[in-house]
Amino acid sequence: MWLLLDDNERKKCLLEGLVEASKRAFWDEDGRAVCPELTITSLLKKRGNAFLKFLQLFKDTQKSADTIPFAVPSEWWDHALDDVDKPLSSKDKFMHTLLTSSRNDFICHFILQAIKAISRDIVDESEGTKPIVDAMESCRGSGLADGWPHIIENLRDKPIIRCENCEKSAEELGTGVRFMVCAICKTKMNLNIHYCSKQAPFRSICRPVTHVFARNCQKEDWKRHKAHCGKEGSKRIPGTAGDCAWRIPSSLLPDYLRDSLNTGDHFEVTNLGPGKPRFRRSSALQRQVSMLETDKDADYILFSSSGEPVRFVVDDPWMKLTFRSMRATAMSDARQMGVGPMAEYLIKVMNGYPGLSREIMLRQFVDEYGPDARAEVVQSERKSAERLGGGATFLEAMSRNMSVMGQVLGR
Ligand SMILES: [Zn+2]
Ligand SMILES: [Zn+2]
Repeated sequence: MWLLLDDNERKKCLLEGLVEASKRAFWDEDGRAVCPELTITSLLKKRGNAFLKFLQLFKDTQKSADTIPFAVPSEWWDHALDDVDKPLSSKDKFMHTLLTSSRNDFICHFILQAIKAISRDIVDESEGTKPIVDAMESCRGSGLADGWPHIIENLRDKPIIRCENCEKSAEELGTGVRFMVCAICKTKMNLNIHYCSKQAPFRSICRPVTHVFARNCQKEDWKRHKAHCGKEGSKRIPGTAGDCAWRIPSSLLPDYLRDSLNTGDHFEVTNLGPGKPRFRRSSALQRQVSMLETDKDADYILFSSSGEPVRFVVDDPWMKLTFRSMRATAMSDARQMGVGPMAEYLIKVMNGYPGLSREIMLRQFVDEYGPDARAEVVQSERKSAERLGGGATFLEAMSRNMSVMGQVLGR
């Protein structure tokens, strides 16, 4: 049936697939960055046969895979790790796992949504011309129409330069700025820790115009820097050489993940903290965050009917990772997207614990995340029931996905 559709109709369905997948996938349209083969032009090749070929590849992989979920092969993705040093460090493995699972998540959403669009239009006998124009218009400038090349362009090929002390870039400092590097860090670790030195005109009473350094950032920073100079690097300002994920722009890597990758030598799930908030945290949420910061092994603190704190700890390492990622999104992302799925899981596991009930927990989430939290939990539960079956929550499904990817990589 796909091949019977006219070109415009095909284009429209694929576009809808991409737009809808971007709305539904875990990382929104950023998920598309890891699926470069999904472009309308390439899928429309040979009068739409390219899309059928992609579907076939997806189905074949699904059939032959001994694990669920499975990785959709692509030449580009197979070579993604080519210029990374082998063997992979635990941090690189983790990043790769995370990106692979977000890639698969996006692909599944795309296929589902494109097929949905096709079947609906066939049923509706849609003319399929005006909507294409509208859809193309509406997605222009949203980053979707030209998403992939745009993001590839933004992957850094070298670290950015910011002053280790004042954290400013050359642009922000204006003309007359020179950067120097810490000689000890350069020799011992081959790491460029930059310091600015802006020359500013200075007029003294008894001498003619002379130039002095307006500030000496290296000197100012020494008190802090000497503790780890030549040993463990820098403040790890995002994007600079000291940040182990400098290649990845902030649109593709949430702050909380970057922070945890930059803490310690190996990736440890207990380093995955609540992140820096992009909104004003309520006082209840501030209390939660400070309790979690003191008790790094606890994943959440619930409060019983009598106000007693109940430590919630996840044992399974993949579930812990999934839970903490969602928790950081809930506690720091401006849209607080993680509240529903995180709370859904807490309620499922802890409902019936002495002193706790669904209602008591819901009240706590409303205190912490605001009045919308209740509706978000209900919506998350409804979606999971519709899509997952077997009583699984969104986080459980996601954690299974991550753990399978992790095992594949560990082989
Ligand atoms: Zn400076
Ligand atoms: Zn140094």
